[in-house]
Amino acid sequence: MSFLIHCPNCGERSAYEFRYGGELKVRPKPGGTEEEWYRYIYAKRNEAAAQQEWWYHRLGCRQWFLAERDTRNNQVLRTWMAEP
Ligand SMILES: [Zn+2]
Repeated sequence: MSFLIHCPNCGERSAYEFRYGGELKVRPKPGGTEEEWYRYIYAKRNEAAAQQEWWYHRLGCRQWFLAERDTRNNQVLRTWMAEP
């Protein structure tokens, strides 16, 4: 299924130009437990709702950015560059 994603640098483009990078997660602090690291690396929420995700514009500016996408209809609600 194709849909449009608004790249913060390039504007609206086909989703085929992008690579999905997974859900936005909070990285465990140094010294975090094995359970915290396991959940960070392997566990997915995969909710039927709006969620924040990483996307990479592989056929455009080649930048990683964040998007809020509703997984029920693939509508991208907003996109923004991550803070360094
Ligand atoms: Zn771009």
